Amino acid sequence: MCVFCQIVEGKIPATKVYEDDAVIAFLDIAQTTKGHTLVVPKKHYDFFLKTPKTIMHRVMDVAQRIGQAQLQTLHAKGVNVLTNNLEAAGQTVFHFHVHVIPRYDARDKLQLEMHENEDRHDLNLPAIAQQLKTKL
Ligand code: 5GP
Ligand code: ZN
Repeated sequence: MCVFCQIVEGKIPATKVYEDDAVIAFLDIAQTTKGHTLVVPKKHYDFFLKTPKTIMHRVMDVAQRIGQAQLQTLHAKGVNVLTNNLEAAGQTVFHFHVHVIPRYDARDKLQLEMHENEDRHDLNLPAIAQQLKTKL
């Protein structure tokens, strides 16, 4: 049984922030910033891209509410909401979860940087869009 399923079943402790019939949220043990929270469906799905829409929507609804609460109660200046899909994207626990990470200042332990790809001018954007459209 995965670590988040064990938390859902109360077999290992977690500091819960929210719970309903389908979703729980608890503080991430790493506390990347103060209040870093994980929002998790009670039922096991490996990652966001494999989660049924109704459950995914329930999780995102709670993530939004927690982000709002972080602004209001922890006086965060911003919030990052992110979910890693598969190892190549940094996923380490294979039970769908959304990170809701309050941001306070430049010394935060989370650094998210998106750099321009030097090869971007060689990319055929209409062809890439066409590839994606075939599965949408
Ligand atoms: P991922 O890298 O899969 O997106 O994130 C997994 C997260 O789960 C990490 O931020 C890690 O700190 C957190 N985590 C792993 N094990 C536990 C645990 O037993 N309890 C809690 N509260 N968080 C955990
Ligand atoms: Zn699980």
